[in-house]
Amino acid sequence: MIDRAARHLVVEGVVQGVGFRPFVHRLAGRYGLAGWVRNTGSGVEALIEGDGEQIDEFLNALIANPPPLAHITALHVVERPSTDVSAFTIVASETTGGTQAIPADVALCGDCRRELYDPADRRYRHPFINCTNCGPRYSIVEGLPYDRERTTMRRFTMCAACRREYKDPGSRRFHAEPIACPNCGPRLKIVEPSGEALEDHALARARRLLGEGKIVALKSIGGYHLACDAYDDGAVKRLRAWKERGDKPLAIMVRDEIELSHVAGVTPAELALLESPAHPVVLVEQRPSGRLSRHINPNVATIGIMLPYTPLHLLLIDETAGIPVPASLVMTSANRSGGPMITADDIALRTLFEIADGVLTFDRPIATRIDDSVSQVVAGEEVLLRRARGYAPLPLSLPFPVPPLLACGADMKSTFCLATGERAVLSSYVGDLLQYDVFREYEATIERLCALMQIEPEIVCYDLHPEYWSRRFAERRYPDRQQMAIQHHHAHVAACMADRNLAGPVIGIAFDGTGYGEDGHIWGGEFLLAGYASFERAAHFEYVPMYGGEAAIREPWRMALAYLRAAGIAWDERLAPVRALTAEKRAVLEMQAERGIAAPLTSSVGRLFDAVAALLDVCQRVTYDAQAAIELETLADPALHAAYDFAVHDGSPRRINVFPAIRGIVEDLDRRTPMRVIAARFHETIVAIVRRVCSLLRADCGLNDVVLSGGVFQNKKLASDVATSLALAGFSVHRHRAVPANDGGIAYGQAAIVSARLKGAR
Ligand code: ZN
Ligand code: ZN
Ligand code: FE
Repeated sequence: MIDRAARHLVVEGVVQGVGFRPFVHRLAGRYGLAGWVRNTGSGVEALIEGDGEQIDEFLNALIANPPPLAHITALHVVERPSTDVSAFTIVASETTGGTQAIPADVALCGDCRRELYDPADRRYRHPFINCTNCGPRYSIVEGLPYDRERTTMRRFTMCAACRREYKDPGSRRFHAEPIACPNCGPRLKIVEPSGEALEDHALARARRLLGEGKIVALKSIGGYHLACDAYDDGAVKRLRAWKERGDKPLAIMVRDEIELSHVAGVTPAELALLESPAHPVVLVEQRPSGRLSRHINPNVATIGIMLPYTPLHLLLIDETAGIPVPASLVMTSANRSGGPMITADDIALRTLFEIADGVLTFDRPIATRIDDSVSQVVAGEEVLLRRARGYAPLPLSLPFPVPPLLACGADMKSTFCLATGERAVLSSYVGDLLQYDVFREYEATIERLCALMQIEPEIVCYDLHPEYWSRRFAERRYPDRQQMAIQHHHAHVAACMADRNLAGPVIGIAFDGTGYGEDGHIWGGEFLLAGYASFERAAHFEYVPMYGGEAAIREPWRMALAYLRAAGIAWDERLAPVRALTAEKRAVLEMQAERGIAAPLTSSVGRLFDAVAALLDVCQRVTYDAQAAIELETLADPALHAAYDFAVHDGSPRRINVFPAIRGIVEDLDRRTPMRVIAARFHETIVAIVRRVCSLLRADCGLNDVVLSGGVFQNKKLASDVATSLALAGFSVHRHRAVPANDGGIAYGQAAIVSARLKGAR
């Protein structure tokens, strides 16, 4: 006799927009089970009926082999009385209650790519081909649960053929919400500066423009890009000038692996990352012999590369269309210096002809702006630098459960974090809040994500800095909620701890540009003994003045002068940062130095890198964040060189004195030691400092786990050299992984800290 049973399942995690319901449907078929499955506000719910043993087998298979993009965080199973249903069906979504994971956008999959190039397929060369395993997701979502009628695809009525696939459990497109074909999908067009629009041959026209060295604006997944031939100096220069972004490197999109091998040396781990479902921009070693325009990434040895991630990109750049097109395109977000990427068609068509000779667009609206993600591989592991398309807003977990919470992040590379229970959603990269339109975007994105996730924050936390825009926003928008201010570097360290699932306490190293300290000074060269709930500042770099305050961030020579003075070295004309001064400015600075006017104190390692870059005359003015440090890293000789002298003074906290190193650098300059050797010795000095201080702290407190956080650790050479050196000294070293080490990770760290503090309070 058959043991007839029934089980009710609730599956949580990333289970919508990833083909989970069809997967459950197929699996039920395989084990001869009946019942139903549906999307709910909090995930996927199913009722499974049939032979008890078969149900167990079904559950095992469900856990062992979910769809490739699914991520199950919880599976709740409850017994139910059986009802003798005989079929298995997918039923309408339940729209109320709960917070479910929002799926991230996914790059074109291999199956769709094959169909795209199959002349017999009805979607042959269709620029909007997608399936349950690929295509737009977060960028088209207008509401949850994730169903077509709550995406920007709702305006397109499926044709009979698409509808059949959508309803067929055996099809790769069973409930693929953005399903489309040439008969019923979005339509491509290119608009010319005259206003004339071309639907047929729009792609051919775009390819021709690119081939002629023109600039084309094109609509991608999360916004508009500007594209041009990456080999054409004139075009790249024109694009860079319009973007007003100084020397900040531009990303490129390369046609395929062959072109990739021409422009860069890529490791297997880097290639895997380039081809991963997220298809981020990956920073890789550029081939010095290549012919790419030198205006793409001045004075930098790495280049940001991505592979085509939409069928439209692929059709634009591939070789098979008859009209020659550049094999590498500069592909940069369509906005002026740091503003939000343009997403609206009317704004694109109104503003982009200033620079573009054609706008390649289509009629599927973008619901949510999302930038390209930026990633790199350090010591064989992915380290995200900008968490956006393909990653956000996939959920992360928190060390402890929280009531509905908003963490407001930092003002630079801003992101925010919404959390409830143990689940945290870190927003995608928003930008620098000092720009008014970015700040507006920040406010709007918080409201939109709160509405999507149905979260009304009960607790709001933000950076300790009293003048941060993110903090002012929170104080104004949520005056009656519980508020907490979190120290910046504690948030950095907690972000890395939570990213790596560490229980703590740890020796937390946070090296960055600026962060407000508890003593009112600007911190940034910090060794913290840190748990989630609290920290103790155990050591820091000796304070030096920032002459001119914020101006010192843009003009590294100011930091060099401060370090020279602190090291007891006269401001002599033989030194590059002194030569960068006019007599007038010099008089003002000497006066400021004497009286300590307009000179906040800082322990920032980012600013120390600036000072050394200026001493070496690598960079006297920066036009983008961390430029001096990146150019100094580029310069450094990879061979091993001796560190300069430094001292660590006892005390609580201990103080790190690098003035002997500054004297060493000036002596090396006088001796005409090659710059690349000085740059390498300076890096080696920071490595030696870290090892010495960690050893002292281990002797003090017995901690052996070291966490590396803060934007300075985006320096690949420093991050890997520090990790190697600490590992040799017996430390367990932990770096960031899914959450950026820079200020883009602050919001997540704030949420982790609050989760621990609330737990302590109960
Ligand atoms: Zn696909
Ligand atoms: Zn169709
Ligand atoms: Fe920071």
